[in-house]
Amino acid sequence: MRAAVLERPGEPLTSTTLPDPTPGPGQLLLTVGACGVCRTDLHLRDKEIGATKLPVVLGHQIVARTEDGQRVGVPWLGWTDGTCRYCSSDRENLCVNARFTGRDIDGGYAELTVADERYCLPLPDDLSDQQAAPLLCGGLIGYRALRFTGDAANLGLYGFGSAAHMICQVAAYQGRSVFAFTRPNDERTQEFARSLGAVWAGGSDEQPPEQLDAAIIFASAGELIPQALTALGPGGTVVAAGIHMTDIPSFPYDDLWHERSIRSVANLTRRDGEEFLALALKVPVRTTVSPYTLDHAEQALADLRAGSFEGSAVIVP
Ligand SMILES: [Zn+2]
Ligand SMILES: [Zn+2]
Repeated sequence: MRAAVLERPGEPLTSTTLPDPTPGPGQLLLTVGACGVCRTDLHLRDKEIGATKLPVVLGHQIVARTEDGQRVGVPWLGWTDGTCRYCSSDRENLCVNARFTGRDIDGGYAELTVADERYCLPLPDDLSDQQAAPLLCGGLIGYRALRFTGDAANLGLYGFGSAAHMICQVAAYQGRSVFAFTRPNDERTQEFARSLGAVWAGGSDEQPPEQLDAAIIFASAGELIPQALTALGPGGTVVAAGIHMTDIPSFPYDDLWHERSIRSVANLTRRDGEEFLALALKVPVRTTVSPYTLDHAEQALADLRAGSFEGSAVIVP
C-alpha cells in the first residue's frame, strides 16, 4: 500500500510503499477514504511531542470502509486496558496504558489501515468521507472542551482552525455567543469565523466587546492563557484543548482571582465520540476542507503550520 510515513521527527514525511497491514484479533482491515490532518500530527512531525513508534504512519481522523463495506470512523483513542483506575471510572481518555492512533499505532495517511473494532465509531451518512474526517478529532475533542465550559453564554475561541470552525457552529446552535480570536490582522479568518456564526471576531491581542464566561484555547501559544484570563468575567474558565503548548508566561494572581479557573482537556472517550457525532448531525456541522493526496501530506502539514487554508486539511489516498 502507499503511505506517508514519519521516519525521523523534525524531517519531512516520506511517501513510500509499505506491506499491506494484517488485522490482529479484534481488528478490522480498513480501506481509507479520507484522513483528517490534526495539529497533533504537526507536533509529532516537528518534534514538539514525542513519537513512541518509528517509523509511524500519522493520521487519527480516519474515515474508512470495512471489508464488508461498512463505513466507520477511527479516532485518536485506539486502545485502552479497560482495567486501570481511570478506565474503571469512566475516564478512559486518561487510561495509563492507552494507545493512540497515528502515534502508537499506524494511522490513516495510507491506503489501508487496521483498527480495533471496539474503538471505531459509526458515522452519519449525510457527510462525504472528506467532510466527515475532521469531526473525528478536531470535532470531538473540541466538543469535550466545549462541555467543560458548562453553560457559558459568552464563549471565546482562541485559534480559529479545524476544531474551532466546527465548535463555533455547535456553540451558535446551542444559543451561545461566540467570540473568535485569530492571529492579529488575520482578517480572512475573522470573516470566516463570522460566516460560521461568531458574533464577533478579532485578533488574539484584542479585548472582546463583552466579558467572556469561558474560553477554549485551540492554538498552541502559551501566552494565550493569561490573555484569555483577562477577557473572562468572575467564575470563568479557560480550557486548553491542545496536546502541546509553549510555556505559559507568569501573570498576576488578580487575573485568576474571583474563581476563574484554567484546565486542560486530554484525548477522548468513546462516549464523547458518540455524543458529538449525534449532535453534529443535528446542528448540522458543515466542514470546510482542503484535500491533499498522500504524496502531498508533507505539504498539508506545511500549510497547516503556515495557516494558509481555512477549516481542515484532509488526506485523500
Ligand atoms: Zn485504562
Ligand atoms: Zn487530533
